[in-house]
Amino acid sequence: MNATTTNAFQMAQQQFDQVADQLNLDAQVREYLRWPLREFQFRIPVRMDSGEIRVFNGFRVQHNDAIGPCKGGIRFHPSETIDTVRALATWMTWKCAIANIPLGGGKGGVVIDPATLTNSEKEKLCRGYIQQIWRNIGPRQDVPAPDVGTTPQMMGWMMDEYSKLTGQYTPGVITGKPVGGGGSLGRTEATGFGTIYHLREAMKMLKIDSSKCTASIQGFGNVAQYAAIGFTELLKGKVMAVSYWDRDDRRSYTKGIDARFLQGITDQYGAIDKDAASKAGYVIEDDMAWLSKDVDVLIPAAIEGQINAETVEMISEKVRIIAEGANGPTTLEADEELKKRGVFMLPDFLCNAGGVTVSYFEGVQNDMNYYWSRDEVLTRLDEKMTVAFHSVYELYEKEKIFMRDAAYMVAINRVVKAMQLRGWI
Ligand code: NAD
Repeated sequence: MNATTTNAFQMAQQQFDQVADQLNLDAQVREYLRWPLREFQFRIPVRMDSGEIRVFNGFRVQHNDAIGPCKGGIRFHPSETIDTVRALATWMTWKCAIANIPLGGGKGGVVIDPATLTNSEKEKLCRGYIQQIWRNIGPRQDVPAPDVGTTPQMMGWMMDEYSKLTGQYTPGVITGKPVGGGGSLGRTEATGFGTIYHLREAMKMLKIDSSKCTASIQGFGNVAQYAAIGFTELLKGKVMAVSYWDRDDRRSYTKGIDARFLQGITDQYGAIDKDAASKAGYVIEDDMAWLSKDVDVLIPAAIEGQINAETVEMISEKVRIIAEGANGPTTLEADEELKKRGVFMLPDFLCNAGGVTVSYFEGVQNDMNYYWSRDEVLTRLDEKMTVAFHSVYELYEKEKIFMRDAAYMVAINRVVKAMQLRGWI
């Protein structure tokens, strides 16, 4: 299912509108929050290894900074659009609010498949991105991070470029940096493990024994890998399928997978070596097979718009929980069907807030110039995610509403309160 069939920003606005109606939100406040505060679009010229100049389109969107500096990843993807970046920036505002960290919402992107670039071209593109936007980002303005198609190494180059341009070593300008280069231990596993901490709390509340549960996962990149490892090692459950996007033909790998084995034959973009997997006995299926598995839990952890009006019917009656590791994987139409079926939803900006939470911890450590152990980071992450889950679950129980709506209500109320306290509204 192609992400381009869904306009993510329209989806983000519709989700917001629905909850704004339920909250009876003032029309002026809605106007403020429906659109990003600032948007930047720019061109990034790069001299390729061949000697020719190629010009790439770049974006940075700052949705809202009432609670603190904007925060959000930079995505390198061939179908990146300004609307995708707007949607992701908007969701970041709600995500930081729900995680209760003092940051706002931002996001960036470049229209490129990074796997088509050499290492030196990638470095030039990363440095070029910063050359275009450095005046409008910074530890107290807007703090980028990695997303789909970008890696800790790329964040290291970007931080270095910003530090050179400003004349000061400024690790706090970007998070998701490599450990040893200003990064935080625990950042790599943060989003996947955060998803698992939410699942653990949900299962406790729903009285489900996780060790008897199965899961199917879309994606096998950063989030999916650690969600798979966490599901197996922390929850003692079994992962039946993962999937990834193959440049030639999309495939989904099935059979009680060994997440750590598959991680060993997966490249930096989350593409699995399918020959090695086949040799090890893995069955290769069609791209959407992951969605129709008879499992207890679905974890979409690839891209947006995957569970939609067309695909929702493929979901097995057995599925009890959807844990959205990805941003925006479920459309509003699909939500309606899932509500009818009584599927428990862990919505994206709650469920995958582990990444931004450890990014925030990274910024805190950069500011202190003192670094925590991995255990300390993950313990603090677990605490934050557990509190966030229960702040939403309490409202869900009290009002008998969909978890996504409950999460929106908590988040919107926090942002509106910060805007009031600053005298914006
Ligand atoms: P990644 O680039 O590491 O991995 C993406 C994975 O998705 C890869 O395995 C890729 O093959 C797969 N994929 C891409 N298109 C696909 C398609 N059409 N069908 C099936 N699989 C496809 O990215 P990531 O960092 O793991 O991010 C995944 C999702 O989680 C994104 O929505 C991202 O915005 C969100 N997210 C990431 C983080 C983080 O910390 N990395 C934090 C919060 C949210």
